[in-house]
Amino acid sequence: MRIIILGSGESGTGAAILAKRMGHDVFVSDKSPIQAAYKATLEEHGILYEEGVHSMETILLADEVIKSPGIPEKTEVMKAIRAKGIPVIGEIELGFRFTQNARIVAITGSNGKTTTTTLTHHLFQSAGVNVFMGGNVGDSYAALVAAAMDLPNTPENERTYILEISSFQLDDIQAFQPDIAMLLNITPDHLDRYDYQMANYVRSKFRITQNQTTENHLITNADDLEIQGFMHHNPGFIKAQLEQVSSSDLKDGFVTVQGHRYDMRPTSLKGPHNRFNAACAIHAALQLGLTVEQIEQGLRTFTPPPHRLELVAQVEGITWINDSKATNVDSVFYALQAIDTPIVWIAGGTDKGNDYTPLLSLVQTRVKALVCMGLDNEKLKTVFASFGIPIREAKSAIEAVEQAQQLAQNGDTVLLSPACASFDLFKNYEDRGNQFRTAVQTIK
Ligand code: ADP
Repeated sequence: MRIIILGSGESGTGAAILAKRMGHDVFVSDKSPIQAAYKATLEEHGILYEEGVHSMETILLADEVIKSPGIPEKTEVMKAIRAKGIPVIGEIELGFRFTQNARIVAITGSNGKTTTTTLTHHLFQSAGVNVFMGGNVGDSYAALVAAAMDLPNTPENERTYILEISSFQLDDIQAFQPDIAMLLNITPDHLDRYDYQMANYVRSKFRITQNQTTENHLITNADDLEIQGFMHHNPGFIKAQLEQVSSSDLKDGFVTVQGHRYDMRPTSLKGPHNRFNAACAIHAALQLGLTVEQIEQGLRTFTPPPHRLELVAQVEGITWINDSKATNVDSVFYALQAIDTPIVWIAGGTDKGNDYTPLLSLVQTRVKALVCMGLDNEKLKTVFASFGIPIREAKSAIEAVEQAQQLAQNGDTVLLSPACASFDLFKNYEDRGNQFRTAVQTIK
């Protein structure tokens, strides 16, 4: 079969490797320059590619197209492929074709995917399960599947895949059917890809369970209005066994799942949102046979991924926290909620059309000063001007840290939780978090 892969990032390159491994005739086409590391991988596997162009005559000869999640349907190339009726799938669907006997846990949501995916993976790994993690975090699913094929002594039915899945990836699935799906929460994000219709985005997230049957499980959020609203208006859509986590399961530093109370106080998972993430991971772990003792042990030894409420330093009574991954308003809401000292808040960057209303009362009660770190800070300054708190501006991480240091006192927390994308001043959220961490370390 002649397979054309559109896009050659993590997903496209992984798809190319797997498709080639399965004996297909593979060609990769990317409209942008391909990163050197991915080019090297393609060459190593003998996969032909083009970059900076889509050669339509070649592409339209495909028997099947595998589309990277970053490519919108409204691009010329996708319109032409659709007009010709060529079947299109995403890389997740391709991976699924070759892992139907494995156990799959798939995790989606607007916030908390990476934390919950890495935690779930850690619970299984520390219990000695043969487990692979990937998808929208780390290696692509397809690359994991291709690599696992070459491992000795790992029959497919003994493998467990823990996959982070974005809404864009869900848009291109067909038969993908995880044994356990998690839908953590749904708040406005990426609406530009969904015709600015929240209902389209919600529907996309629910695709994670569309092929599940009564033998599968869906773990979700009892308190999320979008999720509950969709289920109410679409009775019968969910066939899977439903397990819902509610705030009443997350009281006083404990998480209660199936009658057992897990003490979260000795763990690194801080804040109610992380207790929620942990509850979801625990549900999955119990479902796939882990014991309470194994889970408790895993919770204690888990280190959350960087840039998510990451404790950077405590200097002269001031706590510095890097939450650079908070690129939308909802994640900042949870960060502000998780901190119970006065906060010097560093926010700003590329605004994605933010509505800051949900933050107003938290800012009023918890934030003592705001440092706006962005090229254009006007919107933030205007929204929070009436609060009577000091507002400063910074055009780099070093400047922001200097400003925050002047504003913070013994007992305060300086929180980088931007609510915005990072591309105005930084390469990406990791770069922003790393520069912040380095700047804090220079004042130690
Ligand atoms: P994602 O992979 O969905 O972007 P991350 O785990 O990387 O999620 O976390 C992104 C941001 O959201 C971080 O600032 C983190 O503190 C916050 N966050 C984590 N879990 C949740 C949750 N359940 N609800 C809301 N915000 C969360």
